[in-house]
Amino acid sequence: MAGAETAETGRMTYAEQLKHPKWQRKRLTLLDAAGWTCQLCSATESTLHVHHKRYVKGRRAWEYEDRELMVLCEACHDEQHRLQDLLDEMVATAGGEDCLRMVVGLVGGFLATNSSIDEGLCISAVRACPSMFIFGVAGAAASLSCEPRVAAFVQETATEIAPSMGTNRLMNAVVKELTEHPLPSMKVKESA
Ligand SMILES: [Zn+2]
Ligand SMILES: [Zn+2]
Repeated sequence: MAGAETAETGRMTYAEQLKHPKWQRKRLTLLDAAGWTCQLCSATESTLHVHHKRYVKGRRAWEYEDRELMVLCEACHDEQHRLQDLLDEMVATAGGEDCLRMVVGLVGGFLATNSSIDEGLCISAVRACPSMFIFGVAGAAASLSCEPRVAAFVQETATEIAPSMGTNRLMNAVVKELTEHPLPSMKVKESA
C-alpha cells in the first residue's frame, strides 16, 4: 500500500503537496503546538506560516519531523528565506574559493549562537567550512560571555589552534581584530 501511495503522490509538485490533507493536518498540529505565535518574534496578529528549516530531496512537505519545521510570521519567514538564499548563493559562488567558504563558516558559527537563526542556515554554514564554523561559535561564545576570563581563554585557544587548522592568515586577522577592537562584553571590566 505504501508503494502505491508513493506512486500516486510521488510526482506531486510542491504547490500540490501544500494543498494535500496530510500537510494541512501537519500544519495545524504545529500551529497549535506553537500557540498560534511566531516562534521568532512572538507575533500573534500576523499571518503565520509553517517553515521548513531544510529540504531533503525526495521527501514530501509533510514528511518532516516537527523539529525540522517552525512557525513563523510572514515577515520573519521572508527574512529567513532571504538569509538562506544569501548564504546558499555565497556557498555556491565560492566554488574553489576556500577563503569565501571559510568566511561563510565563520559568520555562520557566530550566527549559530543567536537563537533567532534557524537550523537551515547553520547547516549551510557547517557545509561551507566545518572548522571555521566551530571557530565562529567559539568567537560568539567569547563575545557573548560576561566573564572576561572566558573571553581571554577562547581568544588564546583560537590563536593556538589557528595554525594547525591551516587557515592562519584569516584566523590571525580575526584574532588581531578581536584583540584590537574587542566586542563590548570582551573588555576587561575596570571596576575596583
Ligand atoms: Zn515573526
Ligand atoms: Zn520557509
